[in-house]
Amino acid sequence: MLLPWRRISNFTCYRCGLCCFYFRVPLKSYEALKIAEAFGLDKIAIIGGKEYIEKEEGKACPFLVSRNGKLMCSLQDIGLKPVACKLWPFHVYKRPEYGRDEEAYFQHKLGGFYVYVDQRCPGVSLGKPNQKLIRTVEEAIDIWLGIREEQLLTTATIATFSGNQWLLKKNTKGLLAAIY
Ligand code: SF4
Ligand code: SF4
Repeated sequence: MLLPWRRISNFTCYRCGLCCFYFRVPLKSYEALKIAEAFGLDKIAIIGGKEYIEKEEGKACPFLVSRNGKLMCSLQDIGLKPVACKLWPFHVYKRPEYGRDEEAYFQHKLGGFYVYVDQRCPGVSLGKPNQKLIRTVEEAIDIWLGIREEQLLTTATIATFSGNQWLLKKNTKGLLAAIY
């Protein structure tokens, strides 16, 4: 499921919301605190001593909302979107956790990192990385390091949708098959 970033040509989030059905979102302690303060303790689940967004089995994250027929994160608007959600479908490590070292290696301005991409996301295209993908990986590493909060390339833009509905439909089928 996880491929080294050099196997990915491009990433575009289509706001399909499938990642928000798929995950139980792990939270950093400060994120759990801010979400609990804003929405109540019942939005936080503690499992095995770790904090997550509370989510019923088989249902979407409670913060997923529909706007103009597209699904999006309501926490994003108020600066509370968790880092785990900002990073998906990218996985950043200091070591080559999933092998294929050379293909996973990324030379960032602050050092070397190993980046993998979950190809179950319908927005992931396989192939030779384009320049946008390279900048997107850089942004994901910035977010992982905590030196950037704002997402420009690692999330959807309004322009994302036009003309891409057929692609979303096609790839969504694959992700649903992988999940269920
Ligand atoms: S395209 Fe990928 S990142 Fe965007 S909402 Fe769908 S599964 Fe999530
Ligand atoms: S917090 Fe936002 S991005 Fe994360 S799963 Fe919930 S709705 Fe999706």
